[in-house]
Amino acid sequence: MSTKRIESLNDCFRHAGGAIVECTRCRHWKSLNRFILPWLGLRSGMALDDAARRFRCRRCGAKAARVYPGDRPHNWRGNR
Ligand SMILES: [Zn+2]
Repeated sequence: MSTKRIESLNDCFRHAGGAIVECTRCRHWKSLNRFILPWLGLRSGMALDDAARRFRCRRCGAKAARVYPGDRPHNWRGNR
């Protein structure tokens, strides 16, 4: 991972090759790209936390998503 600070979805696409939305309860996940954002009612300039609040898990129904940079689920520890 680069040392760039990742604040928004756009930063994920630019610096990390994509973004992952993952349910913190059941670990169901989905990769996001800039083309599907409009279908989800999201904007690429949104902060990751704001985007995460928009998701409800399709599998378990929890509203407990987190959004982080990458193209596969992993244990993202945030900006350092
Ligand atoms: Zn879930």
